[in-house]
Amino acid sequence: MLVTVSAAGDPEHRHGVLLVEDDYDTRDAFIAILESLGLAAVGAANGREALEQLWGGLRPCLIILDMAMPEMDGYAFRRAQLADPTLSDIPVAVMSGAGWAVERDARALGLTTFLRKPIDPEQLLAALGECLA
Ligand SMILES: [Zn+2]
Repeated sequence: MLVTVSAAGDPEHRHGVLLVEDDYDTRDAFIAILESLGLAAVGAANGREALEQLWGGLRPCLIILDMAMPEMDGYAFRRAQLADPTLSDIPVAVMSGAGWAVERDARALGLTTFLRKPIDPEQLLAALGECLA
């Protein structure tokens, strides 16, 4: 695919994405897709790992968040993110295969962009455009 996602006004800027997903194969495949779209993608296996990276100084342009994960799930991660004023502005897209109950609970936490598994590159690009505008 030749489409790339770049920031308006700064051609040097490469959007960074933090992908929070517990399944290694899904994470690995998704990072490859994001990189092929011109994004700098970093993975975390659960919410706690993601928070550690963010507290360590990582500042992605977008977080893509799985909701069902061991140790710290997407809801707990989102609550911790919102409670930290240095992190609360980072846009978050939800990645889910689990249906409408997940979506309702995620919306209650201010999450409005949803990616359905399996990830389709066109759907991904539309969501990226929404979050990175
Ligand atoms: Zn960016």
